Amino acid sequence: MSSSTIPLRPGITNPSLWYPQRPPEAQWKRIRLAVMERDDWSCAACGHRAKKWMNTHHLEDSGDHRLENLVPLCVACHTVMHVGRSLMEKIVEVWQSEMSQVDIVRRTREGIKQGLSLAQIKKTLPLSPGPYPPESLQYANDLIRKIGTSPRAYLEEPLCAIFVNLTRWQLEE
Ligand SMILES: [Zn+2]
Ligand SMILES: [Zn+2]
Repeated sequence: MSSSTIPLRPGITNPSLWYPQRPPEAQWKRIRLAVMERDDWSCAACGHRAKKWMNTHHLEDSGDHRLENLVPLCVACHTVMHVGRSLMEKIVEVWQSEMSQVDIVRRTREGIKQGLSLAQIKKTLPLSPGPYPPESLQYANDLIRKIGTSPRAYLEEPLCAIFVNLTRWQLEE
């Protein structure tokens, strides 16, 4: 099991810290492997375990590559944690939901396992419209406006990221 769990909310990284530089490739590979082995290749947000495509997320998206600042995230949870980019790439939409974000990830992955499409799964989720259209970048823009000097800012509940175009569900072990 993962040693740590982090709350899953759609969020953005402070633009002043965006895309930290990685150490040289060989060093990064060692760091990444140490993070994965420490947490048994399990997503720090939803607990999903997979060896293929697991991402490495900086808790504070600074260039701090110490192990304490790094966790494995599955592709889906990582998509949620960087919702501004995901909205731009049209991978997610933002809706209000009484279901928690982590349960939406789990429910969606379960649906994919059963062979459903993302559109079909979306219809089974309890969703209602938020203040902006579901694909609006305004959700991310509002976060950027209020982020100040914090490393990250999050959409408030009940706003959730809903998957409309994600392919890497990491169903193989
Ligand atoms: Zn996850
Ligand atoms: Zn990240």
